[in-house]
Amino acid sequence: MKLSLYLKFIAGYLVFGVLGFIAVSTVSSTMMNRYMTRGRAEAMYDEANLIASAYSNIYQGERQSLDSVYEQLQAVAVFLRAEIWVVNRQGVIVVDSNASQRTGNTIEGFDPTVTGNKSYAVGDYFGQFSYDVVSVSAPIIGNYNTYGYVVVHMPLSQIRADSDQGLDVIYISAAVIFVLSLIILLVFTMTVYVPLKKITEGAKQYAAGNLEYQIDLDQNDEMGYLAATLNYMSTELDRMEEYQRTFIANVSHDFRSPLTSIKGYLEAIIDGTIPPEMYEKYLKRVISETERLTKLTQGLLTLNSLDGKACLNRSNFDINRVIKDTAASFEGTCLGRDINFDLTFADNIQMVYADMGRIQQVLYNLIDNAIKFSSDGSTIFIQAYHRNEKIFVSVKDTGIGIPKDSVKKIWERFYKTDQSRGRDKKGTGLGLSIVKEIIQDHGENIDVISTEGVGSEFIFSLPRAAVS
Ligand code: ADP
Repeated sequence: MKLSLYLKFIAGYLVFGVLGFIAVSTVSSTMMNRYMTRGRAEAMYDEANLIASAYSNIYQGERQSLDSVYEQLQAVAVFLRAEIWVVNRQGVIVVDSNASQRTGNTIEGFDPTVTGNKSYAVGDYFGQFSYDVVSVSAPIIGNYNTYGYVVVHMPLSQIRADSDQGLDVIYISAAVIFVLSLIILLVFTMTVYVPLKKITEGAKQYAAGNLEYQIDLDQNDEMGYLAATLNYMSTELDRMEEYQRTFIANVSHDFRSPLTSIKGYLEAIIDGTIPPEMYEKYLKRVISETERLTKLTQGLLTLNSLDGKACLNRSNFDINRVIKDTAASFEGTCLGRDINFDLTFADNIQMVYADMGRIQQVLYNLIDNAIKFSSDGSTIFIQAYHRNEKIFVSVKDTGIGIPKDSVKKIWERFYKTDQSRGRDKKGTGLGLSIVKEIIQDHGENIDVISTEGVGSEFIFSLPRAAVS
């Protein structure tokens, strides 16, 4: 059977109550009885001694002289709620405070040392009582003689009754503590049980896929912290799910448009809408669309490999050389559009410690964009310089620039500004996301300064190679 935490706690509480009651009724009652008996016996003993010393002078072992003390004895006996005897050395009860009932009786086997090393004895006192009594005795001494004894008895049942009254106080106190300890149950309910229920409900919702669910728990303790962490986790998961959804939607859209146009051209060729003399023109468009698809696939593959945090293959290399080589690879495109490069290097050789292949790709994407968005006949400025332990590379163009509200978005996958959509049909919107991921994988930064209609400058940093 599955027992909830709450039931376990209540069961524990009840067990605590029952055990507490047993402990009070056994241990406490025994201790209380012992304590009361000893207390009463001590009081009786003191009284017996007082009586013994007060009457030693007049007591001569003769009955007549004791008659006079009988009434006082009786008063003390009533006060103590006890029975007081005066017994002579032979064990004859000379005076009995209890209406002289036993006066004249001889106690068989009388032994004043019956209490042993205790100050009192419990029992029927040499068979004189049919019930248990607590008895104390004090010798009556005079002229270096022991004349007799003052013996005081108190029924044990009476002491028990008194101690029961004391026990009642303990029972009531224990009951009050038991009820007050309900506060612990209440605190547990408020601080542990209810929050735990809310958190469990949250976990259930997340498991069922409802990641928008928020655990409503405003507590400034471990439970509150746990709920806040779970809320954060679900929000992040939700965000990632949302990102995956838009990512797939973008990929599907970007694949579908070239495929639709390829299909359109090919169908038009087959059904004769496009005459054979126009084939070349349209087939070239088909090739251009397939190139776009290849580029898109390539970009996605690169991003995928970067996502998995592929290890960087770092080495020391001269960034100037890589810049020169990458710029040279655009010679063909630049010639056709009369675009020039202006390369400025702070030093002849500037060694960096990075993954050369990936940095080549960064430079390629940045220069490709700079050329794409510049007008014919313009110049692209590339600089490399060092500051402290970093080498900074800047790729600057005097092209169309990026609108202010798009500057932050250009790093997102598939993002293209409206102007570039019209101008650059082949662009995938993946180039700068790849650039950013590569630079971040190196633990470095990339930034852009751009003014619409004036131009853009992309600056990124790389670690300088350690001089050996
Ligand atoms: P694309 O493959 O479309 O160029 P990118 O991720 O490289 O994708 O760039 C995203 C968008 O950022 C581009 O479509 C363009 O709108 C803008 N952009 C990037 N570089 C430049 C630049 N040098 N000048 C103007 N706009 C740029």
